[in-house]
Amino acid sequence: MDQSGLFRLGIFAAILVVMALWEAVAPYRPREAVRRPMRWLTNFGLLLLSAALSRFTIGAAMIAAAIWAQANGWGINNLLGMPALLSGLVTIIVLDCVIYWQHRLTHIVPVFWRFHRVHHCDTEFDVSTAVRFHPVEIVASALYKSSFVLLIGADPWAVVIYESMLSGFALFNHGNVHLPKRLDRALRLLVVTPDMHRVHHSSLMKETNSNYGNILSIWDRLFVSYIDHTKVNDHDMQIGLKEFRDMDSQSLLGVLWMPFGRR
Ligand SMILES: [Zn+2]
Repeated sequence: MDQSGLFRLGIFAAILVVMALWEAVAPYRPREAVRRPMRWLTNFGLLLLSAALSRFTIGAAMIAAAIWAQANGWGINNLLGMPALLSGLVTIIVLDCVIYWQHRLTHIVPVFWRFHRVHHCDTEFDVSTAVRFHPVEIVASALYKSSFVLLIGADPWAVVIYESMLSGFALFNHGNVHLPKRLDRALRLLVVTPDMHRVHHSSLMKETNSNYGNILSIWDRLFVSYIDHTKVNDHDMQIGLKEFRDMDSQSLLGVLWMPFGRR
């Protein structure tokens, strides 16, 4: 593994451990003791399959696109000759907006939703939910992001930093944890918090189709998809999708097959 891969893996592992410990010490919603082993097997099984598929397909596409753009003077940053710090900031902000729209489209376009609902059919909400994606969605997302890396002319290290932030924030804002109200409110002005993102995992469709942001919370406010809190309270709200609550659809094989099934 190269330097940037090790950097990303290190950040990911550190935040995963911190969040898992935080959830163990101070879980916000009561934990489902019976379902958790199966959920974690499914969620981390998907993570391993996605990592393997990416490694043998287009896992390095974003970095390769950034290196190619830099070498050939491609993309807005390279054309404008921006200073490194400013171009890094532009890359992070633009990619976060791009991901907001990717996420929103996965809810709107029926064929994309068939894959994305693997993420949403998790019946609980904890740090493992952050890695619960169909491997096909992971690969498609890498291709989508790579095209914008070319367009922006992103610096390779800005891409590495953005990808680390993306996975770090996903682990954080899927945590079954709770921040003091005033801290949550202050953070939420700029970034997505667990309380804000939990609304997105509500089984009420209006709430599922809200709060799409990953790092910055500004996109949901700007594009009018922000919901402040769930209609039911945080503890009694139902997480997941109403149509996929049976054990069969929750297994690793069940979620892998989900996009191609009849339902
Ligand atoms: Zn979603």
